[in-house]
Amino acid sequence: MNAKKEIKDQLKRPVRDLRISVTDRCNFRCAYCMPAEIYGERYEFLDQDSLLTFEEITRITNLLVKIGVKKVRITGGEPLVRRDVDVLVKMISKIDNLADIAMTTNGYLLPKMALALKEAGLTRLTVSLDTLDDAIFREMNGRNFGVKSVLKGIEAASKVGFHPIKINSVVQKGVNDHTLTELAEHFLNKGHIVRFIEYMDVGTLNNWNMKHVVSAKEIISQIKQTIPIEPLDPLYEGEVAKRYRQINGTGEIGIIASVTNPFCGACTRLRLSPEGSLYTCLFGTKGTDLRTPIRNGASDQELVELISTTWYNRNDQYSQTRNINPAENTNKKVEMYHIGG
Ligand code: SAM
Ligand code: SF4
Ligand code: SF4
Repeated sequence: MNAKKEIKDQLKRPVRDLRISVTDRCNFRCAYCMPAEIYGERYEFLDQDSLLTFEEITRITNLLVKIGVKKVRITGGEPLVRRDVDVLVKMISKIDNLADIAMTTNGYLLPKMALALKEAGLTRLTVSLDTLDDAIFREMNGRNFGVKSVLKGIEAASKVGFHPIKINSVVQKGVNDHTLTELAEHFLNKGHIVRFIEYMDVGTLNNWNMKHVVSAKEIISQIKQTIPIEPLDPLYEGEVAKRYRQINGTGEIGIIASVTNPFCGACTRLRLSPEGSLYTCLFGTKGTDLRTPIRNGASDQELVELISTTWYNRNDQYSQTRNINPAENTNKKVEMYHIGG
């Protein structure tokens, strides 16, 4: 199939980034994402047959690259609990014209997986770690995992050549917001990049409230009290994190102000759920099912039509409008662990 003309959505945004959630399962139970009291032993996650196979994911990715996708991020749930996920990375890495394959992980299984991921062609890694305070971290991940287990994962990934690693920290008022500087300093010293993320109202289960959000402005002013930093220009249009440079060193930190300074205008991200639905927004309420047509024998041309129409009809700008039209924002949103960060 030849490359198609670039498709733009209703707000003239092209599709550039694909986030692939490979599982809805996770070994952690972060309260802001998958609260343990809801996702207990009896919770029914997707069964194996419902998940897209690696061949199906690769086929969809291939078609999306033909209509403009340049970067892929593998996420979840926890991507490393999907068996043989490195095999998927390898399959995707063979797709022509794809600039980047990244992964976001909680890092716990990295000691076992880092080398295989590197050899499979993963280009970049983001590890989520909200705090270095062991007691707070054990509480936040809902499974009593210590900070050391994640630090070991980061170390293992660094050893096999992932560098710099991005470290994601979701900041919640009264939970970990007094530990940010310690986290930033630790990873600045190691040459990695901490990115502080404003706590978001994703999904419907985390009892989100604006009162729990620490704004980017507050985060920056806290960091500046100890670490001299200054803003950097964006590397490319639509860059999600606002980057800051360490003035007395070579380090960098980032802030993702999805709540107080939304970036919908430049949002080029499309998300594929583990069971094969396309979501055009992190706060989407309904996806476009690709699994049924694929399993019914749809041709590449038919799938491209379906994907292109989905993108063409897109007019999402949830973060931009959440405060303007709160009444419109009451529909049941897809959960973050289901479609990835
Ligand atoms: N399990 C992997 C992990 O935690 O890195 C990948 C999936 S997780 C849903 C992707 C990212 O979303 C993580 O960095 C996580 O901290 C972030 N996240 C989850 N819930 C969030 C929320 N309510 N607000 C902001 N970020 C959130
Ligand atoms: Fe799991 Fe990641 Fe969600 Fe935490 S944020 S529960 S590690 S999917
Ligand atoms: Fe993109 Fe939706 Fe987030 Fe806006 S709210 S930046 S459209 S994912």
